[in-house]
Amino acid sequence: MGENRCFLLVHPEISRTKYNFAGIIDNEPLELEFLWTVLQNAGFAPHIWDGQVETQSFAERLAELQPAFVYICGRTRQEGFMLEYCKAAKEQGAVTMLGGLHAQHNFRRLMQPYVDYIFTGFDPDAVRQTACGASPENLDGICWQAGGEWVTRAGKPYDIRRLPRADRTQFYAHTDRYRYLELSPCAHVRTAYCCPYQCSFCSRNRLNCGVYTARDIADVVDEIAEIQCDNIYIIDDDFLFDEKRIRTFIRLVRERGIKKRYVCYGRADFVASHAALMRELKEIGFYYILTGLEATDDAHLDRYNKKTDLAANAEAVRILNETGIHIMGMFIVDLDFTAKDFRAVAKWIRRHHVRNAAISIYTPEMSSPQFEEYRSRLITEDPAHWDYLHVVARPEHMSVKRYYMHYHLLVVRLFLRAWRQGVYDFLDYGFFIRSMLKNLFRFGG
Ligand code: SF4
Repeated sequence: MGENRCFLLVHPEISRTKYNFAGIIDNEPLELEFLWTVLQNAGFAPHIWDGQVETQSFAERLAELQPAFVYICGRTRQEGFMLEYCKAAKEQGAVTMLGGLHAQHNFRRLMQPYVDYIFTGFDPDAVRQTACGASPENLDGICWQAGGEWVTRAGKPYDIRRLPRADRTQFYAHTDRYRYLELSPCAHVRTAYCCPYQCSFCSRNRLNCGVYTARDIADVVDEIAEIQCDNIYIIDDDFLFDEKRIRTFIRLVRERGIKKRYVCYGRADFVASHAALMRELKEIGFYYILTGLEATDDAHLDRYNKKTDLAANAEAVRILNETGIHIMGMFIVDLDFTAKDFRAVAKWIRRHHVRNAAISIYTPEMSSPQFEEYRSRLITEDPAHWDYLHVVARPEHMSVKRYYMHYHLLVVRLFLRAWRQGVYDFLDYGFFIRSMLKNLFRFGG
């Protein structure tokens, strides 16, 4: 290892437009904090630059630190920023590395001359070994350049029990920023990785080579007890999966007298069939359950291979409302929607009293079988549009402009309803309503 041990870990900004979720949901960069621990233990000097919260620009931080290594992670919508920062880091002489969710599935898109390594797995130790000079030939889940060609070594499933505790220096320095809606600050905890279900629109089930891996739940409770934050966002793709594990979690949280508020993802069918368990989760502090309700008709649920139905969705909403846990119902507006379908979503949400609703435009994930299906209908190849707020493929029954109009009308309608109910009182409503109306007139009509 050379003298310069400075290692800059980067999470780019989500977007450079004002139409994003900054100030509403700002996620702790947990993946980078795992890397921080591993690198620090190996004698490196890690720093994090997180575009969500920084006041200093990336270029300024790069010039100030002169790092020997720069690792950048991100999602599809951040691809442009990932490559831009990578290029700048290479020009300054750093060894450049890309990883994270987008890289795992779309590494071929990132193969540029100024990128030295792309990590396609979840193992933070592969990053450490590479920085320590290990030959990539001896590692799994890595791409690198040799003789002007890219070489790819396939990833292997990672056992999440090998993860170290994340170093939360970055989180504690920005507790004024990392939040989930009104839960501020809000720390992230990962108890499992990948998802055992096979919903067709989702790429989470292909992470970690498609292998679900879970931590010992007692270790998770130990970690939660240690975190100096009252709000915990369990970022597993599906926390409500193993009933026995959840019961152990509840027992341990009670035994240790831990008093925090929790956010987690959970499927509607699990909630619908575990009413009593939901009451116990409420008692120990579960505040939001984020549920992929996806559709308001069984035909779309079947098409998505959701393995649940509308009756279960309605029952899940009823149980959570009755229990007093806030539901965040996540819906997809499909590209085959008619005007009637958009109205049906609004009606279903109103009729079932879904307090919080998030609407995504159907977006075929890059490198998925759906992407091939939609390829001939794509209207953009700009990865920044893979944010579920943009139409990326031609709608079936209307023009793109008309589709946006219906989408924005739905979003504005739901937002005004939430406003009347005081759901997002912590927000600057005026700013968001103006921003939505601007989009309505820009895209729709
Ligand atoms: S949508 Fe949810 S349940 Fe379905 S595969 Fe993705 S993470 Fe799993």
